[in-house]
Amino acid sequence: MIIVMRAGAPKKELKEVLQKIRKLGYKTHIIHGVERDVIGAVGDERGKARLQSLESLAGVEKVVPILKPFKLASLEIHPEPTVVTTGKITVGGPNFTVIAGPCSVESREQIFETAAAVKKAGASILRGGAYKPRTSPYSFQGLEEEGLRFLAEAGKEYGLPVVTEIVNPMDSELVYQYSDVIQVGARNVQNFALLKILGQIDKPILLKRGMMTTIEEFLMSAEYILSEGNSDVILCERGIRTFERATRNTLDLSAVPVIKSQSHLPVIVDPSHAVGHWQYVLPLSKAAAAVGADGLMIEVHTHPEDAFSDGLQSLKPEKFSELMREIRPFVRATGRKL
Ligand code: PEP
Ligand code: MN
Repeated sequence: MIIVMRAGAPKKELKEVLQKIRKLGYKTHIIHGVERDVIGAVGDERGKARLQSLESLAGVEKVVPILKPFKLASLEIHPEPTVVTTGKITVGGPNFTVIAGPCSVESREQIFETAAAVKKAGASILRGGAYKPRTSPYSFQGLEEEGLRFLAEAGKEYGLPVVTEIVNPMDSELVYQYSDVIQVGARNVQNFALLKILGQIDKPILLKRGMMTTIEEFLMSAEYILSEGNSDVILCERGIRTFERATRNTLDLSAVPVIKSQSHLPVIVDPSHAVGHWQYVLPLSKAAAAVGADGLMIEVHTHPEDAFSDGLQSLKPEKFSELMREIRPFVRATGRKL
């Protein structure tokens, strides 16, 4: 439910309303507006009628239900776009943010070399997996803590915040220690126990859409993180599974405007995992910018033919530089800055 306070209602009245809501067993999220405060009350749906009775309190103008199943992620509760900040970098709002790097951290040299290349081309966040959720248990599983350390060192050296994936909730402290943004991969998008842990930390979460999750389910996963108190969630469309076999997945670009019409959270696009082939990454990056995405996540490898994972979809540094140049007019067309 959304509790809309009267314009200019004194602080004392706001405090009383908040106390009442909490007493009813609901969590409160306050949005301080220019004219009035708005309170989001989230919790058990069955107690709606009791919340409605708050309309009789001094200071309350009206109590309106949030129609969507996701509450804190909805535009109804938060009409302004959320801007997520990490260091000097923002995701959402006026900027178009490009995250780039290898699928996996493979060695110190590899991640340093790639970091230098993507920085030079204009990327603003460095990616690299140290825990890899591979389809086969016999495939490379990641360098684990050593990989986290190499990534963090490369990020520091080149002034790039780093994002890396968490696979096992038991690694949360370690991943937290070495990363600026924590990624939840497609395979863990509905690992609710993991999402709840990440909701309690103070670093941004990059949440990837699952290959089988609807947009509504995706936003419900974001809601898990938000409802635990972490409001810094970046959504990432990375392709869904369809009958089409020519590409690894099917990039659902419609998810970008659909999510934007329902949620205030920033949305970026990962064309690399969507198409699975480096050749299609550039055209889909342009398209992602054109439909209003807030940024991109691109896999880049200095020697894709030798990559430990996802070599086929990885761009060589020259191709990535080309991409950074060629997306510019599309980014500008949607009023964003690169
Ligand atoms: C990745 O980013 O390397 C990755 C494994 O992506 P996804 O979870 O989207 O498959
Ligand atoms: Mn990958």
